[in-house]
Amino acid sequence: MRLLIVSNRLPFSVEENEGKISFKESTGGLVTGISAYLDSLKNASFTKQEHVWIGWPGNEINPKLENDLKKKALADFNAYPVNIDEKSMDCFYNGFCNKTIWPLFHCFPVYTAYNETFWNYYKKVNEHFCEAIVKIVKPGDLIWVHDYHLMLLPKLLKEKLPDTPIGFFLHIPFPPIEIFRLLPKKWRVEILEGLIGADLLGFHTHDYTQNFLKCTLRLLGFDHNMGNITTENRILKADTFPMGIHFQKYHDTASLPEVQEEKEKLRSTLTGLKTILSVDRLDYTKGILNRLEGYQLFLQNNPQWQKKVVMILVVVPSRIGIDNYQKMKAALDAYVGKINGRFGSLDWTPIHYQYKYLPLKPLVALYTTCDVAMITPLRDGMNLVSKEYIASLTDKTGVLILSEMAGAAKELGEAIVINPNHKEEIAEALKEALEMPEEEQKRRNTIMQKRLQEYDVIRWANDFTQELTDINEFKQKFNARLLNSSDKKQLIKSFKDADSRIIFMDYDGTLVPFAGLPENAYPDEEILQLLKSFSQYPGTKIVIVSGRDKQTLQNWLGNTSVDMVSEHGVWIKDSGSDWQLLKPLTSDWKLKITPILKTYSDRLPRSFVEEKEFSVVWHYRRSDPELASIRAKELMDDLISFTANIDVQILQGNKVIEIRNSGINKGIAANYFLSKNKYDFIMAFGDDWTDEDLFKSLPDNAHSFKVGISPSHAKYNLKNYKEVRTLIEGLIK
Ligand code: UDP
Repeated sequence: MRLLIVSNRLPFSVEENEGKISFKESTGGLVTGISAYLDSLKNASFTKQEHVWIGWPGNEINPKLENDLKKKALADFNAYPVNIDEKSMDCFYNGFCNKTIWPLFHCFPVYTAYNETFWNYYKKVNEHFCEAIVKIVKPGDLIWVHDYHLMLLPKLLKEKLPDTPIGFFLHIPFPPIEIFRLLPKKWRVEILEGLIGADLLGFHTHDYTQNFLKCTLRLLGFDHNMGNITTENRILKADTFPMGIHFQKYHDTASLPEVQEEKEKLRSTLTGLKTILSVDRLDYTKGILNRLEGYQLFLQNNPQWQKKVVMILVVVPSRIGIDNYQKMKAALDAYVGKINGRFGSLDWTPIHYQYKYLPLKPLVALYTTCDVAMITPLRDGMNLVSKEYIASLTDKTGVLILSEMAGAAKELGEAIVINPNHKEEIAEALKEALEMPEEEQKRRNTIMQKRLQEYDVIRWANDFTQELTDINEFKQKFNARLLNSSDKKQLIKSFKDADSRIIFMDYDGTLVPFAGLPENAYPDEEILQLLKSFSQYPGTKIVIVSGRDKQTLQNWLGNTSVDMVSEHGVWIKDSGSDWQLLKPLTSDWKLKITPILKTYSDRLPRSFVEEKEFSVVWHYRRSDPELASIRAKELMDDLISFTANIDVQILQGNKVIEIRNSGINKGIAANYFLSKNKYDFIMAFGDDWTDEDLFKSLPDNAHSFKVGISPSHAKYNLKNYKEVRTLIEGLIK
C-alpha cells in the first residue's frame, strides 16, 4: 500500500538556474509535521508503507525541464511535482486561497474578496491536481489531501477513483455557518460537495468539526450520526484530530550543545532582564498589534517592571505580494517605534524586533531562553509555535500565555489562557506570568509536556490514516451487501424459473424520491409504465405496501394492476376486490392525540399534521433541521407518557412521527398475502424502518432489498430508487 500525500506545496522549492534545477527545502507547520511522520514510517521496521508527496514545487518550471524535475524530485524526495503556470498560481493562491478562504475561514469577513476569476482559477487548479494524481495512482493506494487550497479535490478524485480511500485534513479553522454562508451560494455548495467526496474529513478541534457538520446539514441537507454522514450513495465521516508536533525533535534540539551555547550568549546580552517571546508569521490573524497594545498597557500599569523586562518580537515575512500584508507591516513598524520611543532609554529597549525567518536551532534557542511566550492570535487553526515552546523547556521553567482563539488552547489548558481582544487581560496575564513561582511553572509544564509527548505528530498522522483504513474496511464489508452482477444474474434466473411470484414494494423513497410536501411525490410516467409491465408479467403479483392513505394510493396507482396495502397495513386491496380492513380497529384515540401534534406543528414552522383513518402523522421534512430534531425529541417524550394507556404505537420514520393502532405493521400485512397462496419466488423492497417489519417476516428464501445504505434485516442494499427501477427492468426484460 502506498500513501499519497497531496498538498499545495511540496516540502521543497525548485529553482532554475542556467537550465539546471536545484531544490531548497521548505518549512512550515504542515511540511514539518508530515515530514516527521513520513520519516517515522521509513524507520519503522514493521511497516512497508511507501509514500509519494504530490504538490506544487514553488515555481513555474520551463516545460523542457519538466522531465528532469520529475526524476530528481522522485529520487531526492519521493515527490511528484504538479507544474502550474504563474498566472493560474497567482489567481489561485494569492487570489482565492489567501484573499477569500483564508480571511473568511479565520472569521475576517471584511478582508474577504469575492472574485469570480479567482474562483474559476481555484476550480481549475483543483482539477489540474486531480489529473496529476490520476496519472500516478495505483490500486491499493491511500490518498491524503491537505488543507484549504484543495477543498474541491476529494470529490473530483472520488468521481475518477471510487474505490480509492480518500482522506482530507483542514489545517485552518472551519468557520461557523453564519460566516461560511457569506460565500456565494454556488461556491459554498461546491466547496462542501468537494469536501464530502472524501471518506474521512479531519479537523483540529471539536468546534471546527461541529461547524462543518452543521454546514453540511443546513446547506446540503445531509444529517450525521456521531460524525458519520450518509449521502444518497455513500457513507463518510468527519472527526477531530488535533495536530501535534514532533515533540522529541524540539526537546532534543533544546539540549544540543550549540543550542545551549546560543542560549548562554543570548542570556549574557540580556542580564538582569526577564524575556517575553513573541513569534509569528506576519498575518492579521495573529493579533500582533493587539499583543503590543497589551504589552504597552502592562508597562504603563507596572512601572516597577520597566527596565526589567524585554520583549523579543520575531515576525516572519509572509505573503509579501498581498496589499493588506504590506500595510500591516507598516503599522507594526510604527507601533514598535512608538513603544520603544515612549518607554525606552539609552540603556533599555522594551522591544527587540526582528523581521525575519529563523531556522530550527536559533528558534529553539529562543524558546529555551525566554521566560514567557506570548502567543495570542485573534484566530488560529491550531498554532504549533505554542506547542514547540512547551516542548523545548527542558528544565520545565517558562510560562505560556495563550489565546483562547487558538486551536491549541483546547489541549494546553494549563497555560494562562486569555482573550486576545482585551488588552487589559493581556497586561494582567503578563504580570501573572512574570511573577509566577518556579514550582507552579514546573507543575503546569510537566502536565502539558506529557500530553504533547503522548499525542505527537506521528500519533496524529497514524490515528488519521488508521481511521481512514478502518472506514475503507467497513465500506468493503458493506459493498458485499450490494448486488453485484453475478448475484443479479442469479436473481433474474430464479425469477424467470419461478411459476408464481409475489413482490412487496414500499412506495416513498423506494419507487420515487422524497419530495418536500408528500402530495408532490406522485408517480412519474416511467414508474407507472414499469409497474404496469411488472404486474402484467405472467404469474406475478405486485403488492405496494405503503404508509400512505388508501385514497392517495387509489388515485395514483389505481390504473395499474397492483395490489395495495395502505397505512402500513391497516387497509388491504386484493386484486379485483375492494379495500378492506385487515383487522377491526378503533380510532377514537385520535381525538386525544391530534391536538398534541397540532400544538407541535404550530411551534415548528413548515411542519404539519396529516390525518389518516387509523393513524395520524406529524411531518417535519421542510422544517429547520436542528429545531425540528429538538421538537421531534420533545414530541416523542410527550407521546410516550400520553399514550401509556392507549393501545397505539409511535413510529419515528424519515422526518415523520406517526401514531397508529398496535398490532398493525407491514409484516403482518405481507403474511396475509403469503398465507392465501403458495409462491415460489418472494421479493421485497423498502427504504425505512417500517419496512424492517416486512423484511423480518419473510421466509428465509425470500429476496429482500433495503433501499439506501444503512444497516437492515434485508439481504441486500440498493443505493437508491433508481437502482430499484433498473433491477425491475432487468427482471422483466
Ligand atoms: N517557524 C520557523 N521559524 C520562524 C518562525 C516560525 O521555523 O522564524 C515555524 C514554527 O516552528 C512552526 C511554524 O513555523 O512550526 C508555524 O506554525 P504555526 O502553526 O504556529 O503558524 P502558521 O504559520 O502555520 O499559521
